[in-house]
Order: sequence, then structure tokens, then C-alpha cells
Amino acid sequence: MRDLPHDHFGRIPERISGLVDLAYNLWWSWNPEARILFKQLNQQAWKASVHNPLRMLRDIPAEFLERAAGDPVYLRRYDTVMRRFRKYMSAAGTWFSEEYAGRPPLTVAYFSAEYGLHHSLPIYAGGLGFLAGDHLKEASDLGLPMVAVGLLYSQGYLHQRINPDGWQEDTTQPLDHATAPITRVRDATGEDLVVRVPHIDPPIYVAVWKVQVGRIPLYLLDTDTPCNDPENRGISSRLYIGDREQRLRQEIVLGIGGRKVLHALGVEYAAVHLNEGHPAFALLERIRERVERGMEFEEALAEVQATSVFTTHTPVPAGHDVFPVDLIDRYFRTYYPALGIDRLRFLQLGVHPENPSSGFNMTALALRASAHHNGVSRANGAVACDMWKCLWPGPPEAKVPIDYVTNGVHVPTWLNPRMKELYDRHIGPTSPDWLADHDNPVVWELIDEIPDSELWQLHLWLKAKLLNRIRERERVKWATHRSGALNPAAEGAFLNPSVLTIGFARRFSTYKRAHLIFEDLDRLKRILNNPWYPVQILFAGKAHPADNEGKQVLREIYRYTRRPEFGGRIAFIEDYNEEVARYLVHGVDVWLNNPLPPMEASGTSGMKASLNGVLNLSILDGWWIEGYNGRNGWAFGNEAADGEKRNAADAAAIYDILEKEVVPLYYNRSIDDVPHGWVKMMKEAIKTNGPRFSSRRMVKEYVARYYPSLLKGAGMEAARAPATAKPLTPAWRPRREEKTGEGST
Ligand SMILES: *Cc1c(COP(=O)(O)O)cnc(C)c1O
Repeated sequence: MRDLPHDHFGRIPERISGLVDLAYNLWWSWNPEARILFKQLNQQAWKASVHNPLRMLRDIPAEFLERAAGDPVYLRRYDTVMRRFRKYMSAAGTWFSEEYAGRPPLTVAYFSAEYGLHHSLPIYAGGLGFLAGDHLKEASDLGLPMVAVGLLYSQGYLHQRINPDGWQEDTTQPLDHATAPITRVRDATGEDLVVRVPHIDPPIYVAVWKVQVGRIPLYLLDTDTPCNDPENRGISSRLYIGDREQRLRQEIVLGIGGRKVLHALGVEYAAVHLNEGHPAFALLERIRERVERGMEFEEALAEVQATSVFTTHTPVPAGHDVFPVDLIDRYFRTYYPALGIDRLRFLQLGVHPENPSSGFNMTALALRASAHHNGVSRANGAVACDMWKCLWPGPPEAKVPIDYVTNGVHVPTWLNPRMKELYDRHIGPTSPDWLADHDNPVVWELIDEIPDSELWQLHLWLKAKLLNRIRERERVKWATHRSGALNPAAEGAFLNPSVLTIGFARRFSTYKRAHLIFEDLDRLKRILNNPWYPVQILFAGKAHPADNEGKQVLREIYRYTRRPEFGGRIAFIEDYNEEVARYLVHGVDVWLNNPLPPMEASGTSGMKASLNGVLNLSILDGWWIEGYNGRNGWAFGNEAADGEKRNAADAAAIYDILEKEVVPLYYNRSIDDVPHGWVKMMKEAIKTNGPRFSSRRMVKEYVARYYPSLLKGAGMEAARAPATAKPLTPAWRPRREEKTGEGST
């Protein structure tokens, strides 16, 4: 089944050939001891591959592989890791299997347009994707029966280059299929599996790739197959494609095609979880199948609602897809009768009650066709209720049925391995299994046992690593492109590890207000250039290619970096991605976040930072409203002012906190050169936010809140339709893979 490029991997000695299996399962990426197996083959090769084991195994000289295969110390380590890996994959004794012992393991199909799993798989744009990625990793660790669906974007995500003028240039780099952790899914005859998206005319075909996320299979749909005409081949070329019609077809492929592919693979599942509205057509397809089996539309709708969870994120109206009705007519004309309804009833499913003529709204569809909805933080849930209360007309005090499950991050992914070792050393003796129990706040209380100087030294080491990494990127850029030395300040050449370092890294959407700290230039200059207590700021982030406003903000900041009056204390790191994020959230001192409330749905980068002892200085929005306790970082932004006034007030709050609290605390050193007050706050941040904002807490919360109803919904269905009561197969091993043409299942 695996499309092994044998010329690449054939030279790996048999004794350590399991490395290929490891490299094809992202489990390695959140298990430091598996990472080390790759790194130990050759440290420079590991770096040169940008931590991509497939690329590394392809590129390193065979002698390194042979040396490892003959080294007893390496082999002992290898055998231990492989044993753990096989045991993990056997899925015995997981949290879920114990919690839900004796119940039929109802598999949930997770649908998302993007997944942030690792930088070697560039199928993400931002927070929405990392939420999905962390959800899958956690579902795997907890043993949840889950299967996931997404799209494979052949052009990868856009890379960012900043030209000398400070303007963002977007370049695409085609995905290198051979070094991405994906395998082609084939049918029983060994041909590439190709599935036709049902009922859509003219026809669209999809090929399928598989990513193994621990125990969870993620199927990525790819329209770049010779079966398609040229225009259709490009449907999955790019994430969030701009053209409306291509975007509609993309969402048809994701939702309707995705459902079809799972059927073709024989994957049984009884509930779906939609991450944002892009895959909402999957709900229609679930209804259509029931109608085809003879059910009335309204009854089928009720059944689908009962077994569907919809997570909504964005409070930005432009973040919700709305399609013109004539486009919907063009693609769904034959679909209306297949659902047993007329055009009007269909269009009603996507109507926004307050703006009926705006088009077909995917969020409205998702909310109507699912019974379980949630936002991604307490504040975001409330905003969503307010935005969508029009869908549930009733007395004003009636509760809008949109709940919230606050996001969390996957601790084994985002906790730096050296930090983990430190926590192990001090938490481990009392709670040996603390990592398995890491959503329990009690085990984190032992963080207090870590001597201040140890935590501080490690933090400084991580900071040095970040600055080294930045310089190394610049060296490579200079050596390969003969550019880069043009703006040494922006490129981080002047960064100093002993200076208090603020990190600001996020998408350059206007509501994130990246320029806020430049509101009062003189005051900022004084803060940065304080001769006794200097401060430096690292920026990173991409503007959406079509977002000229965002690009202008970026250019403005870039231009500041090279104005000498800022002392060379501002840098801009190009091409923000998962790898850069990792270094930043491990290595800066302060994580700054100042969006315009209430636009931040949750914001997960601050959670990643906090987990590693990086202190948040953040506006009270998204997760920080729940996370901030007065001792674990800094908060501002109770202002009610609007517009320019609000910017000025928020910026002034940041300067005040920096001058009066952050800077003095940082530079207040004892005789041992440790800022004990600062370290105390680091510990408070780690132990209060670590457990609460973990994806373990989050996924367990999803399970507790929705699983019983999903089981009940699925149970009703099973009772009526014995045909679905087929033996359940483990979600991570497709029962059969067959070539399926058109038609029903
Ligand atoms: C975590 C993460 C995000 C999301 O973080 P926000 O706080 O929502 O900006 C975006 N991009 C990358 C690369 C990340 O790692």
C-alpha cells in the first residue's frame, strides 16, 4: 500500500529499517526519544533536513546509516523506541478504552480544511489548523476512535519573502510528495484509489493520501489526478483558494468527497465533528444517504443533527464562507432532488436570517444541520451566541444553543524536550506518570520544586538556541541567495541574548494590531534604548496574499527595524511557520498579544509559550480572560474606548506595564544573577496554564460533553437500520480499500 520510493529507502540497513515506519508516523514528532533516533544519525544532517526525517533518510550518506546499524548503543535505543511505538500503536489500555469500556467504540470523523501537524506538511494557515492538528494528536494519545479528512494542497502554503522595501512577496513552493509524511492510498488492485464526488456535475474526481497521526489516520483528498480536466485538477492546489467558484468546489470536495472517500475505504463512523464551516457539505451528504435509504428529509436531518458537532471560531464576518445563489444552483441542481427537497428548502438551509439576500452561508448551514455547537473560548462562545441568535428566534432571554470548549495545546508537541526533562526530574519522583496525567493541576504543583537557577539557566539556553537559529537562517539565506545582509537589524544579527526579549508572532490580519506597540514612537524608543534595562522585540507572521492592508502594516514594521533610533532592537523573522513558532514560544521572555477585542477566538500561541515558562503580556480577550490570574503574566485592555482612542489607550497600557512591571522584574537579579521574582512568575504560569490549556483537558471535555449524546443519536439510528450494525473496525486500519466509481453506498 505504501508508495515507497525504494531508491531512497532501499539503502537503509534491515536492522534499523523501522526508521521508515517511524518517519511515516507523526508520532515521532511528539516523542523526543524518537526524534533523537533521527538526530543521532547525524546532527548536521538533521538540521539540514529542517527536522524532516524523510528528507534526512533520503539525503544522508549511507555510511551514517551503516554506522548506526552497527552501534550497540544506538541499537539499544532504537529497540526501546520501536518497542514503545509498537505498543502505542496496539492501542491497548488507553484512557478512552478504560473510560468507555464495554461500549461500542463509536468512531468520530473529523473534518477540517487545514491541519497544523508539522512544518513538513504545509497544509495549514494558522490557529484553526493547529487546533485541528493538536486535536488529532490528543485523540490518538487518549485512544479515541477517530478518523480525519482534509485536503492535500499541492502547492503547499505560501512562503514569505520580504523585499528590501519591506513588502511581502508571496512565493509558492510545490509540495515535495516524496519528503512529506504522506502515502498514496491504493485500491485492491494496486491502482491509486480514485473516487468520484457523488451527484456533482460536471464530475470531480479525487485521489487520496494518508497521514498517520499516531493511531489516527488522516485522509487528504487531492484533485490533482489525470481523471480530472485541467480546471478541476487545480481545486485542491491551494489552501483557501481566492476564486469563489474554485472555493465552492474545494468545499464540495472536502465535505461531499470526504464522506464518499471514507465509504470507499470501508471506514465505519457514526458521528462527525466539523472544524469551522468549510466542510459543512459533509452534513448534507449524510442526509442524502439517509434519504436514499428511504427516509424523509426532515427525519434524516434530525438524525444527522443528533450525531454532528460543529466548532465555530471566527467572529470576523469575512471569515464565514458565503456563496452566491447562482453558483449553488449550478453545482447543486441535481443534488436538491437527491435530498428529496426543492430548491427553496435547500437554500433555506444556508440563509442568514438577517441578510437573506447575501447568499448561501456555510456557517448557517453547519449550525442548522448539527445539534451540538461550540465556540473555542468562553468569550468566543458568547460572541458566537450573539452573532447567531437570529437562527433561534425566541424571547430575548432564551439561551442560544452555542456552548464553548476552550482550546488547548498538545503538551508533548509544544513542551520543549529539555523543559520536559527538567519537569520530569522534579515532578517525576513524586508523580512518575505525570505526563499521562498532565491535565490534572495537582501534579503541576510540583513545578515549585524546581530550583530557580535551573529553570532560569534552561530558559536562557532556549533563548540562545532561538537566536542561533535566527542567525543560521540568515546565514543560509545569504549563502544561497546572496541576499540577506541588506538589513542586518531586521534579520536579527544584532539580537542580544542578555536583553529582555518580547515575541510577537501571528498572522498579519488587521484586527491583530501588530503595529500597536508603535503607537507612541518616542515612548517605545525610550523603552528599547534604555541603557541599563534594554528591551528587544522579535516580530514574525504572514499577511494573507490578498490582504494589502496587512502587508502595509508589515512593511511599516519592517521599516522601523532599520531605523537606527530603535537601536537595532527590532527584528522581523521571515516566513513564520510551525518550526519558527516552536523556537519562539520556547525562547523569548515575553509573549505579546494585543488584538482588538473580541476578535481573538482563543489564541493558542500564548498557551504554547506559557507551557514553557514564557510569560504572556496580553489583552484580555480569547483564552487569556480564562487564563490570567494576576500572578501568571500581565493583562490589560479593560478600555471601553473606540477606534483611535482604543489604540492609544491599549498602547499606553502596554508601555506602562513594560516600564513599571516587566522590565524591573526582569532585571532585578540576585547575587546568583537569577531574577527570582521573574522565575516565580514563570512557575506560576507553567503550573496554572499547563494543565488547563492542554488539548488533553480539551478533548476530554469534548468527549464528556458530546459523546453521550452522539452515542444516543447513533444508537437510535442503529436500532432502526440494522444494516449499519456491521462489525466495527479499528479506525486506523481501513477494512478494505476498493476502487469505487460513481454511485451510492
Ligand atoms: C499556534 C500557532 C498559531 C496559532 O496561534 P495564535 O495565537 O492563534 O496566533 C499560528 N501559527 C503557528 C505557526 C502556530 O504554531
